[in-house]
Amino acid sequence: MTETNRSTLSFEVFPPNSQVGVDKLTETLDELKQLDPSFISVTCSNHNVDYEKNTIELAKHVHNKLNLPAMVHMPAAYVNKAQVRRILDELEELDINQVLALRGDIIDGHAPESDFKYASDLTKFIKQEKPNFEVSGACYPEVHPESTNRIDDIKHLKEKVDAGCDQLITQLFYDNEQFYRFQEECAIADINVPILAGIMPIINRKQALHVLENCSAHLPKKFLAILDKYKDNPVALRDAGLAYAIDQIVDLVTNDVDGIHIYTMNSSKTAKHIYKNTAAFFNLKK
Ligand code: FAD
Repeated sequence: MTETNRSTLSFEVFPPNSQVGVDKLTETLDELKQLDPSFISVTCSNHNVDYEKNTIELAKHVHNKLNLPAMVHMPAAYVNKAQVRRILDELEELDINQVLALRGDIIDGHAPESDFKYASDLTKFIKQEKPNFEVSGACYPEVHPESTNRIDDIKHLKEKVDAGCDQLITQLFYDNEQFYRFQEECAIADINVPILAGIMPIINRKQALHVLENCSAHLPKKFLAILDKYKDNPVALRDAGLAYAIDQIVDLVTNDVDGIHIYTMNSSKTAKHIYKNTAAFFNLKK
């Protein structure tokens, strides 16, 4: 493998909602800056869509203060074309041109009357308004929970890519075999854009319980054993969770994954540890 076809490394952070959260995130971003990732993506809650105050403010910090490429998550089920147009103009002003185009979660199960029923509608709109923007999309190796079957899910994903999506980022998964199967299905469906693998290392009990309760991803025996054995030993749980994530990453990169996207949960320890143990595998700028 040559330097040029190595996998990329990128990170996701979310806007904090407390001063403690701000301090923690500042520390994390300082760590991330030193790792020189391909980009840092900033989430946006669909429950409280306030791009300017939260997401754009943080993306601006990533772009201006850290001098790193920023990607803005844009869930669009609850915004209209005029609002999106204004946000895109603002991003252009700031020289931020990477957007993760999302439909976003439907609150209380009632789909709103929207200019953007699906992420593909938003993707198409962004590409019309700002052809120079890079648009990413979400994808689901273990099928989106609302989809009735894998075939329809892949068919709709192909529509999203045809609408102009330049790259895909997966939902988190803990079983690499699910990802490899998904990659094959994408290739068969002629989906040829880069697919970044979303990895969320388990670093504490609260997060482990959240994954157990809410995650529809297949949880391998080896993973469940870690959560069980170290449930009362926070340090061992964190170390084992990070080791599991590193094992996943090494396997994915060895199999030429296009990129790894780490869901950091705003933890500097996660970012630092992952980097320390995997830097040699990635196409990093330094
Ligand atoms: P879509 O691509 O529109 O898909 C939604 C469902 O509709 C799927 O079942 C799909 O198969 C189906 N579908 C698509 N097109 C059609 C069609 N033409 N006809 C019928 N069915 C169709 N949420 C947030 O609120 N904020 C975030 O910051 C955020 N970041 C995320 C980052 C990543 C990497 C991922 C994977 C998810 C993220 N999410 C976020 C969650 C995401 O918004 C939800 O999973 C949401 O339920 C679906 O959004 P989507 O963009 O994937 O939707």
